[in-house]
Amino acid sequence: MKFQKLTLMALCVISFSASLVCAGGISGGGGGTTVPDPIKPEALAWTFEEFAPFIAYSWLLGAERNFDGLSEAEKTQSPLKILFGSPNADKRVFAYLRSAQVEMRMNSACIDYDGVEREGSVHTMKPGNVCLSVFLMAPKLNVALALKEASALYLHEISHLVGANEPEAVAIQKLMLRDLWYANPAKIIAGAQFAGGTWSVEGATLYVKRLLKNPALITASEIEKIAERFDRAVDGLNLEGESFSAIGAELHDEILPYRAVVESIQDYLCAGDSKLALKQRRECKRQIAKEFADAKEVSARDYLLRRVDYAGKTVIFDPRYFGAAVDRVKVSNLRSRADVVKALKQWLSFLNRVEAQARELGDFKVTVSRI
Ligand SMILES: [Zn+2]
Repeated sequence: MKFQKLTLMALCVISFSASLVCAGGISGGGGGTTVPDPIKPEALAWTFEEFAPFIAYSWLLGAERNFDGLSEAEKTQSPLKILFGSPNADKRVFAYLRSAQVEMRMNSACIDYDGVEREGSVHTMKPGNVCLSVFLMAPKLNVALALKEASALYLHEISHLVGANEPEAVAIQKLMLRDLWYANPAKIIAGAQFAGGTWSVEGATLYVKRLLKNPALITASEIEKIAERFDRAVDGLNLEGESFSAIGAELHDEILPYRAVVESIQDYLCAGDSKLALKQRRECKRQIAKEFADAKEVSARDYLLRRVDYAGKTVIFDPRYFGAAVDRVKVSNLRSRADVVKALKQWLSFLNRVEAQARELGDFKVTVSRI
């Protein structure tokens, strides 16, 4: 970390164009030179207002998840540790993201605590807000990069609110810009707006609700259909690679354990389904015997580690991808239709939480006041 900070400061001194980013400005623009095809301030303000909230929020959700996947040593080196590295830090970041209003300066600069003119600042009329100056930013940004740069500068200022110092805020801004570099903002925005909708998580939720209304309809093949829908919806929660997500680390961690709950329902139904071939039913029974060894319930971790392929040998799930939730979520050894209904309800409550969070992202707005 020490080395990283030094490098960053050295860059601030030696690089002409980097001086912008070191002062908490945008990273492009070549130090005040004009750019081809610059965006108009009005267009930048509109683009920011409409789209930057989705990009910033979904990046934070993805970043939280990626941070959780780091080793302890990597975490201490990561610029994200100020956002997610201490207990409840994540709650603070998301709370600031929701509460901070943007004071958008259309014809003037933002001012920092030393009275210096800046493109962005947290020295605002109302404490806890963020100032962004489209007046200073627009001439340095071309149309293609404007949204990416403005979103990353916005996150830079949000990280100041959380407590980041200047080099830390710059490092976070750079990390986000790196993830945005090859990303298609249109994909992120559309994904953010649709992830909670009918064609995604909600589709799986509605299907489960329908089955629960009429439990007689619950068969192994019906469960397989909703599992497929769910898997597709989970793919849709990654909005653009793994850097932009519709759900945060905690829910993401629970996907695999709840997938285990679904598997257990499928196995139980398959084992007792007289329409299936005897060989297949035996296979399902064998899985159940192996997974539970007669216990009433096991942790999702044990369940997943005992689950083997159809040849009966290779374990399917790689524990490297397990999060903390595999020990928290329990998988029941189902014995009756009533147990199946209970397990489906357990799954539904998880799906409801995923849907609610994905919708929260889709509905996310930031109050922007133009000054
Ligand atoms: Zn700053």
